[in-house]
Amino acid sequence: MPIQILSPQLANQIAAGEVVERPASVVKELLENSLDAGASKIEIEIERGGSQLIRIRDNGCGIAKNELMLALSRHATSKVACLADLEQIISLGFRGEALASISSVSRLTLTSKTAQQNEAWSARAEGRDMQVEIQPAAHPIGTCVEVADLFFNTPARRRFLRTDKTEYNHIDEVVRRIALSRFDVQIKLSHNGALQRNYPAVKTDSHKNTRIQAICGRQFIESSIMVNADYDNIKITGWLGLPQAARNQNDLQYCYVNGRMMRDKLINHAIRQVYEDNIPSEMYAAYVLFIEIDPKQVDVNVHPAKHEVRFHQARIVHDFVYQALHKALQQSLQASWINDAK
Ligand code: ADP
Ligand code: MG
Repeated sequence: MPIQILSPQLANQIAAGEVVERPASVVKELLENSLDAGASKIEIEIERGGSQLIRIRDNGCGIAKNELMLALSRHATSKVACLADLEQIISLGFRGEALASISSVSRLTLTSKTAQQNEAWSARAEGRDMQVEIQPAAHPIGTCVEVADLFFNTPARRRFLRTDKTEYNHIDEVVRRIALSRFDVQIKLSHNGALQRNYPAVKTDSHKNTRIQAICGRQFIESSIMVNADYDNIKITGWLGLPQAARNQNDLQYCYVNGRMMRDKLINHAIRQVYEDNIPSEMYAAYVLFIEIDPKQVDVNVHPAKHEVRFHQARIVHDFVYQALHKALQQSLQASWINDAK
């Protein structure tokens, strides 16, 4: 075969292979877009585990009519414009690939209205050359993305989908992760027309406990301590489970770096060391932790799905996390020993 440039749809489908593994990955990308748009309310509607329909509606800044088409093109983003931006990412998205990828493997409709427009507009992308049709629509300020028939044109991918229930459970987990990262945003999730989750927006610390309890359970709240420490330009806050909150699965380990949930080997190692003498090696600690660090000190452009980061000063971050959590845990354990001895 001679060398050819891939058609836009094929190029997007190849990119989709990395970003869109299953319905839950679509939900993650769309939720990140809503948060980047400054939404304070997000509604997620799922039909049949997301394979039939994923609809996400937000009250964010919206997309102007003349940018709808661009939003669906590959390598089109409003979030980075130059290398300096890439070196200090503050948004969740930056690759300009999600909408293009998702629309190449589904029937996608993007409806949006900005505060400057009198009416909403809707863009549909379907077909081999990724041609986009723009039509007037009804929608308040904000954006609604509808993704129907995911993987309808990539049968190999479609075959990999599990039951509706399993796919829905993955979506639920993505929504939990996002809900833990942004207490100030209201998030509702429904499946097949029935409301499953409603996380109202919370402002005060005591109300934060309500959301933590809704997501992580009462036992976690009752057997965890709050941490709050900083050093130089790094800060760690959140809830650290006491040894009695340890579980036999690692399903309650939430760690965020600058608002982005991730599983990082370095941080995992630091946390495991903290619990080394306190929980059996076959058990897993439970925690919800938020690390804030100067965006220039961390590289988020490591993996297309963006759940990995690289810290420029890895050793310092590791030791800070270890020391901050170790101190908090030891203080709490000592306090409870003293109480028990009384
Ligand atoms: P990225 O998030 O990496 O920029 P996407 O393909 O996810 O790439 O989105 C492309 C662009 O479309 C975004 O940069 C943003 O300008 C716009 N966009 C997408 N979703 C929304 C939304 N919910 N509200 C406002 N703008 C959006
Ligand atoms: Mg995005």
